[in-house]
Amino acid sequence: MEIKVLGCSGAEFPGYRPPSFLLNDKILFDTGSLTRLLEIEGQWRIKHIFITHSHLDHIMGIPFLADNLIFRKKRHRVNIFSIPPVIRVIRESLLDGSIWPDFTVIPDTHEGILNLIELKTGDSIKIDGYRITPYPVQHSVPATGYLVEDKKKRRFFYTGDTGPTDNTWIKMEGNQVHSLLIEVSFPNRMEEIALRTGHLTPRLLKKELLKMKPQPEKILVIHIKPQYFETIQSELRKLNIKNLRLLKDDQTIQV
Ligand SMILES: [Zn+2]
Ligand SMILES: [Zn+2]
Repeated sequence: MEIKVLGCSGAEFPGYRPPSFLLNDKILFDTGSLTRLLEIEGQWRIKHIFITHSHLDHIMGIPFLADNLIFRKKRHRVNIFSIPPVIRVIRESLLDGSIWPDFTVIPDTHEGILNLIELKTGDSIKIDGYRITPYPVQHSVPATGYLVEDKKKRRFFYTGDTGPTDNTWIKMEGNQVHSLLIEVSFPNRMEEIALRTGHLTPRLLKKELLKMKPQPEKILVIHIKPQYFETIQSELRKLNIKNLRLLKDDQTIQV
């Protein structure tokens, strides 16, 4: 599977963009930098968006995408998938008509350009030959990761934002994850704030990996706070974990 990394940073600075991962040009995971990197034709190809949680760095592209697509002569609806508490926040806080038009009822009450769809944890949905399953992760707000499997049974798991969790790995046990896209937001010295805000440090990452059965083949680190990039990079190197690398914005990867 090929993923375009539109953004994978844990904060926004010049040269660092919030998380958005594009699978097969059509399926997007989180929307942090969706409309910043993709031209209109690229935006137009997106039909399905999976959101991990309601934090702004993951949902901010949704209103801009809708605003761009509404002016096309030929339109299609964009499906926004997530677990119910996340869909609720998108509906009630992002698209309630107060900070942006409510594109779930524009251009038509029954055929809004955005179609919000609730997913049940653990239940798979099939799209374009991919089987996508939400698994809960541990964050400061309700959050889910996504396990994605293609027709050849290759699998990647995208955690979104998460702190230490047993539940996720227990529920996913037995699924061979070929590529794990997992967050590390803070350096080791900030473990307390990482735990309080539902994030990982390099040391906490190592403990999480030990919980996974079987072990993932590739570990791709995302959501690093750019302020601590070099420290986190050197702390990760010292862990000596095989097949681990840090993802960068604007690269295309095979997973
Ligand atoms: Zn978050
Ligand atoms: Zn985030």
